[in-house]
Amino acid sequence: MSADAEIKRMSREQPPYYWQSLDFARLMTDYPPPPAYFNTVYRMPRAQLRELREKRFMTQIARAREIPFYQRRWRETGLGAGDIRSVSDLTKIPPYTVHDIRDSIARNPPFGDFMGVSPEDGRRMPLVIQTSGGTTGLPRPMLYSPQDREIMAILGARRLTMHGVRPGDLVQVTRALGLANGGFHIREALWKYTGAVPVMTGSGNVTPTRRQIEIMRAWGVNVLIGFPAYLRHMALVARDELKIDPRSLGIRALDSNLGIEDRKPIEELWGAPCHDFYGAHESGMIAADCVYQNGMHIQEDAFIVEILDPVTGKPVPEGEKGNICITSLFKYSAPLIRYNICDVSLIMPGTCACGSTLVRLEKIFGRSDNMLKLRGVNVFPEAIGALVAEEPRSTGEFFCIVDRVGAVGRDEMTVLVEAADPSVDTRALHQDLERRLHDALAVKVLVKVVQRNELDQYTGVSQVTKAKRLLDRRKD
Ligand SMILES: [Zn+2]
Repeated sequence: MSADAEIKRMSREQPPYYWQSLDFARLMTDYPPPPAYFNTVYRMPRAQLRELREKRFMTQIARAREIPFYQRRWRETGLGAGDIRSVSDLTKIPPYTVHDIRDSIARNPPFGDFMGVSPEDGRRMPLVIQTSGGTTGLPRPMLYSPQDREIMAILGARRLTMHGVRPGDLVQVTRALGLANGGFHIREALWKYTGAVPVMTGSGNVTPTRRQIEIMRAWGVNVLIGFPAYLRHMALVARDELKIDPRSLGIRALDSNLGIEDRKPIEELWGAPCHDFYGAHESGMIAADCVYQNGMHIQEDAFIVEILDPVTGKPVPEGEKGNICITSLFKYSAPLIRYNICDVSLIMPGTCACGSTLVRLEKIFGRSDNMLKLRGVNVFPEAIGALVAEEPRSTGEFFCIVDRVGAVGRDEMTVLVEAADPSVDTRALHQDLERRLHDALAVKVLVKVVQRNELDQYTGVSQVTKAKRLLDRRKD
């Protein structure tokens, strides 16, 4: 192409501008951001909420019917066009898992057929791609339309406000900045819908931990966001290496996806409440706890959450544990219709003292596909982490190695644990932890106590946001 023709083309091709891509006023009414959220959806009578969800659900079903992934799967199970008329028909739809997404990508590389948009649609709407925070293999991509992205930012802002973020705050975000959605999602939520200022320090390999603490102190950061292991690591670096009491740094609130970890030791280190949330890169923010820290309120105007029996795949009664299965009510590019995330939780019976009408997930007990079988007993590495974190003679860091040993091939798990400092009686710690883990897990595991920071080579906690916790050598 000649330079002349290229200039002509440049002057003709109109990109879709973001500010024109949505009816923003309508969006504010449909998905109220904070503070309006707390006087609307947060306290909405159940009957009104039901009606709202019905309408949104049918819109999502219509959108899903345009997407090859659902067309294929629903055809295979004989689900007809007229079979889904309301939320009560939800259980007729076959659930899918991450394995079906991987299969969709393998069949139709590089993006799969589970999305109703492709990068070429960037000609008509601004698109952005982010991924899962996966630690193995290629990350799973997700293209977000303006509608997806803005509503996700609003859902994120609701969580952050529930967790103590206020207009004018400085909020330090120690989540990965890159392909993984976590960091950028929080930046958009903070910047656009909370009035707080994001300070995107990223993980330890983007901004070293000591520098993270110096920035926090020099700039007067109010709220700190990160994975529990990193929040603990930061506090210990401040206290023991920089000789700064983390409680003197003026952090008013902590926000972390706690899972099964005990929030108390982290709260004590920082002298601030630590709030829990649950979300995924495909969905955005699903649930967050309130000031009462007693379960996470589900954003029910944006999601239908079911809890499924891991074996039968059928919904379990309220209060029983199972796999979280979500149906989105707002997504355009890739609606999620019965996506079984395989994270284990339960819906709490009863209501919360905060007065919200939104039901609560208790906490995330672990990933059912992280679960490993040790001599016939189901073990979650997350549960081991929670028990280690309770032990004040350890740093809270841990790493599990599973081996098949001896002539009979006995499965043996060794839990490596760091002593908090050289004065710790490692023999006593070893014995106490072995007993404690045996009681809690109902299967014997071996404990090996190592010195502080020795596990970093396995977990990568000082460098990456998602620490590695398990090496299963049985398959080697
Ligand atoms: Zn509440």
